[in-house]
Amino acid sequence: MERDAILDLGGLQALIDTLRGLGYRVIGPTLRDGALVLAEVSSIEQLPQGIGDEQQPGRYRTRDRGDEAFFSFAATAQSAKPILFPADEMLWRGVRSHQGFTVTDADPDPAPVALLGIRGCDLAAIRVHDAVLLSRNEVDVRYQARRARSFLIAVTCSAPAGTCFCASMGTGPRPGEGADLVLTELIDDRGHRFLAEAGSPEGAQVLATLPTTDANADDRAAAAAVVTAATDRMGRELRTDDLTELLFASAESPRWKDVAERCLACTNCTMVCPTCFCTSVEDVSDLTGDVDERHRVWDSCFSLEYSRLHGGAVRPSTGARYRQWLTHKLGSWPVQFGMSGCVGCGRCITWCPAAIDLTVEVAALRDDAAQTTARPDALASTPER
Ligand code: SF4
Ligand code: SF4
Repeated sequence: MERDAILDLGGLQALIDTLRGLGYRVIGPTLRDGALVLAEVSSIEQLPQGIGDEQQPGRYRTRDRGDEAFFSFAATAQSAKPILFPADEMLWRGVRSHQGFTVTDADPDPAPVALLGIRGCDLAAIRVHDAVLLSRNEVDVRYQARRARSFLIAVTCSAPAGTCFCASMGTGPRPGEGADLVLTELIDDRGHRFLAEAGSPEGAQVLATLPTTDANADDRAAAAAVVTAATDRMGRELRTDDLTELLFASAESPRWKDVAERCLACTNCTMVCPTCFCTSVEDVSDLTGDVDERHRVWDSCFSLEYSRLHGGAVRPSTGARYRQWLTHKLGSWPVQFGMSGCVGCGRCITWCPAAIDLTVEVAALRDDAAQTTARPDALASTPER
């Protein structure tokens, strides 16, 4: 970090005002319909002060914390994914007229967005999307345009939920690389304030314009204590050693049939996962047939249609689709991209109506593997279909 300083509550409002003055739409956590969600904010009064959350497998509730904290909750219900990688995005529009047929591209110049309050897990998920969408032969130009105009303000997580396991994945509770600013909320006998650390030249520039006071050793020690306390309260754990080998060797585990009996193939887990990036393309036209649009929409490897090739679906059973998801997420993603496809946010556990928990499933696969004699031909034999 290049510079740190203390922001009081007026400083937090000044941060929002400054970013809005620079042309950013500021997106932060708000309470809406009983859930903490990301939405545009212009005032710190719109932040969920005193609101916490409870998350368990298949269960989500907000609660009154009885304190003044603005950011004492775990992950918001949805991540920043829909903002940087929208669920439905027009690629082009074609209009037929007497003069011919004209095609216009999607808006190439999206409005700048400042994301306020994202957690270490969600910051890590943005790094994953940067790797997937920006570092391969074909760059996702729309994501690239949004990322180029984004300003990321991460907040150290102080209240992990029962479904969180970012500490296992090395993505939190302290935010890692990639934020322009990192805030740690401090409430103690020295007042309600934020240790603000610049993570980029742009972040340092913005921080320099804000009303701040110098941070001292006590402030930094208090911020470190927030990280330690949150790490100690982590709701779950995932053993990450040898995950690729475990998943590849588990292609025929009986556990896939077991999970298929519970999984509804509803796709919730992939919709809330901040790293899932499967999409499909849909064409729509108006009633006259004169206007046609092509949209890119989120899709899911849990849907039967997603793996359809000529002759039928490649993964016709729910067990095969769950295996595909988990094996890619934890096993082949690191081979493809050099990083895990899971950042430990816990959303797939919270929002699964069947309360399926990937940390439990991986532990079960480990147990199965420990009981099964090693089979070198496992990948070559007939897998779950
Ligand atoms: S694992 Fe849960 S959330 Fe995912 S598809 Fe199955 S039932 Fe739905
Ligand atoms: S797989 Fe689950 S815990 Fe991991 S990043 Fe996706 S939603 Fe979060």
